[in-house]
Amino acid sequence: MKLYQQSTIREIKEKYGFKFSKNLGQNFLTDKNIIDKIIEGTQITHKDTVIEIGPGIGVITAEAAEKAKKVIAVEIDKTLIPILDYTLKDFGNVKIINEDVLKLDINKIIEGEHQGDVKIIGNLPYYITTPIIMKLLEEDVKAESITIMMQKEVADRIKASPGNKAYGALSVAVQYHCLVEKIADVPKSVFVPQPNVDSVVLKLKIREEKAVEVQNKKLFFECVRAGFGQRRKTLLNSLQTVQGISKDIVSSSLKAAGIEPGRRAETLSLEEFGKISNEVGKRL
Ligand code: SAM
Repeated sequence: MKLYQQSTIREIKEKYGFKFSKNLGQNFLTDKNIIDKIIEGTQITHKDTVIEIGPGIGVITAEAAEKAKKVIAVEIDKTLIPILDYTLKDFGNVKIINEDVLKLDINKIIEGEHQGDVKIIGNLPYYITTPIIMKLLEEDVKAESITIMMQKEVADRIKASPGNKAYGALSVAVQYHCLVEKIADVPKSVFVPQPNVDSVVLKLKIREEKAVEVQNKKLFFECVRAGFGQRRKTLLNSLQTVQGISKDIVSSSLKAAGIEPGRRAETLSLEEFGKISNEVGKRL
């Protein structure tokens, strides 16, 4: 069954009376080439467990199941479950979980089920791309990598370097936890229904050691959020919202970290954010 063919999708829609849900970000992939790039980029081996977020009608799931030991796919839409039972009926190594991925304890699933390395994949629903990524990272998901398709603008923010307009709290959060690699550019024309934006597939390889060593991870991210929360302000002003610290504390922390107080968050590397948060931590 060629699930990526528009004619197959039409047949399935008719057979099951399925209707695309815009609210659930349902834009289904119809390009085998892109599916192959996601699978190859993920480097799935027969020892791996793959966790897929949002299988839809199973177009990526089926290809992953050919390569992996096991695939666990999490789909929120209950009207897709009988469809997935049908499209994936020939695979004995696929398990479908009908849940909201944002409410799921993924590490618990991994502990209970995994064999070999765990690789997360998905063509993510646009409306919750950032919350899904942040959830996986903040919960320190026990996976080797996360290969996901997202709106191009979000990928640009994730990849951005200091000094770039797209550089912000999301860039720092993802780069702190992961090495970021672009796998593919994906035009909007390869989806049904067609979205308004182009997409990018990124592979986020989870670092064994974080990009910077910080004494207090929570404080590090508080400094990042404070800096970018008021990105037009200088650090001397924006960092005062970190636990309501005084201008004097900000000033002496920046001095000890060797950072000019007139700089703005968008110019800071992860190392520099690390140095600042370590100095602030000494003065709290
Ligand atoms: N993987 C399929 C493909 O590439 O054709 C479908 C991708 S579609 C962009 C996103 C999928 O995520 C849909 O099947 C949608 O129902 C599902 N989804 C949306 N919100 C979800 C959530 N909170 N938890 C799990 N799945 C969700």
